[in-house]
Amino acid sequence: MPQTLPAHVDTLIIGAGLAGLSTALHKGSGADAAIVEALPHVGGKACTERIGEFLFDVTGHWLHLRDPGIKALVLGLMGEDAFHRVDRISRIWSHGVYTEYPFQANTHGLPPAVVHECLMGAIEAARARPTGPVAPEQEPENFADWIRFYFGDGIARHFMVPYNARLWGVPATEITSHWCQRFVPKPDLSDIVAGGVGLNALKLGYNAHFLYPRRGGIQTVSEALADAVGRDRIHLSTRVTALDLTARRATLADGRVIGFRHLVNTMSLKALLRVVADLPDDVRAAGERLRATPVTYFNVGVRGTLGVRDHWVYVPEADWPMYRVGSFSNAVPTMAPPGHASLYIELADRETPPEALKPRVVEGLIAMGFIERAEQVLFMEARHIPDAYVIYDFHYHESRAAVHRWLASQGAQSIGRYGDWNYSSMEDALIDGRRAAESSGVRREPGA
Ligand SMILES: Cc1cc2nc3c(=O)[nH]c(=O)nc-3n(C[C@H](O)[C@H](O)[C@H](O)COP(=O)(O)OP(=O)(O)OC[C@H]3O[C@@H](n4cnc5c(N)ncnc54)[C@H](O)[C@@H]3O)c2cc1C
Repeated sequence: MPQTLPAHVDTLIIGAGLAGLSTALHKGSGADAAIVEALPHVGGKACTERIGEFLFDVTGHWLHLRDPGIKALVLGLMGEDAFHRVDRISRIWSHGVYTEYPFQANTHGLPPAVVHECLMGAIEAARARPTGPVAPEQEPENFADWIRFYFGDGIARHFMVPYNARLWGVPATEITSHWCQRFVPKPDLSDIVAGGVGLNALKLGYNAHFLYPRRGGIQTVSEALADAVGRDRIHLSTRVTALDLTARRATLADGRVIGFRHLVNTMSLKALLRVVADLPDDVRAAGERLRATPVTYFNVGVRGTLGVRDHWVYVPEADWPMYRVGSFSNAVPTMAPPGHASLYIELADRETPPEALKPRVVEGLIAMGFIERAEQVLFMEARHIPDAYVIYDFHYHESRAAVHRWLASQGAQSIGRYGDWNYSSMEDALIDGRRAAESSGVRREPGA
């Protein structure tokens, strides 16, 4: 409630996404901390929308918990039974056939000439690489070269280069490989060859299993965290419009002012720089060099069951406007009403208005076997994420570091996927919050 917002807090947290909620939670219930959130709900990107009886996250939001403390926190708050443990089902659809994920270790099933090109390319790349473990400085920085270095020309041409250009919205030559060390599986040559002849049974990648709430979508995780923080400390529909880091004051959209000692920001770094007073020119220039790519996607309700069981499918070919098709209800049926299914469809075509892409997307769904007839599509609603993916271009490290250095000099922390400005997961956002709580005051265990 607006009237409960204090005039001064020890720690002001901007944003009630997972990073902001985790910061408040890890500071402990005794801390003098408040969260201000622009939207009327908690969760940030980890939120769930209802359309009729269907539930949709902001595209696939699958939970990977590796950090023991964060895992204990989330499972402790919600109970293990609240989650379904899902074994990933994910494939690539290209040349009119499905192959297993990841492409580089599973080319079997593609036309023989394509498999041959992929395997020969991988063999040549392995021959050209230095023997023994590759030191980071031996890796090409340019992502397109990095792909060829590890996988060869065939895998680059048939999947890695076009798919990544469609996902990132920029050619692979414009980005560095720094984002991908954790996310792109690097099978060895023997596994690539085994995958070409249909022998690979490896479940590669960071996302071979994931957790997902049995009911209510990913929003339930955000709500559980918000309950643990205490709703009275979270001020919704409260947007920060100006920040004076010297006077330690934040001005809100309705004109109210709140003073603070510590600041933990989770709104996007670029947005933060737009509201900060007295920004030095070099910091402003560094901020302007930070780039992100937007994503438009469709939330789709379907009558009947889907003909494909996958949780998501990658689409690398330019013939189709989408780069990925996923299904919430294939992971957890409660995301759609009985007798129905739900899809999210992420669009690679960022130029054409989404409405004009619908007929071709539906053709794609039929060609891929998700649905049999266009009439099964009950609705298809477009949603837009303005800065979905931070672009790791050749200015990225230097510009981001310059901004963070200056913020640190002003006693401000900026964390989370967008506050820190990186490509990271929900768990990372929770870890960021824990770290911020540790460094911006005395840390207490949640609930202590
Ligand atoms: C398309 C997509 C798919 C993803 N899929 C997955 C996945 O499968 N698994 C996974 O682990 N992660 C996934 N992620 C990443 C995950 O969404 C993020 O890592 C995480 O939710 C980020 O949380 P955050 O708190 O850092 O940022 P956010 O969720 O963006 O929270 C920032 C908050 O700040 C608020 N805010 C902004 N400006 C202001 C202001 N001026 N005043 C007050 N408040 C403000 C915002 O409203 C928002 O609530 C995905 C992300 C995207 C975009």
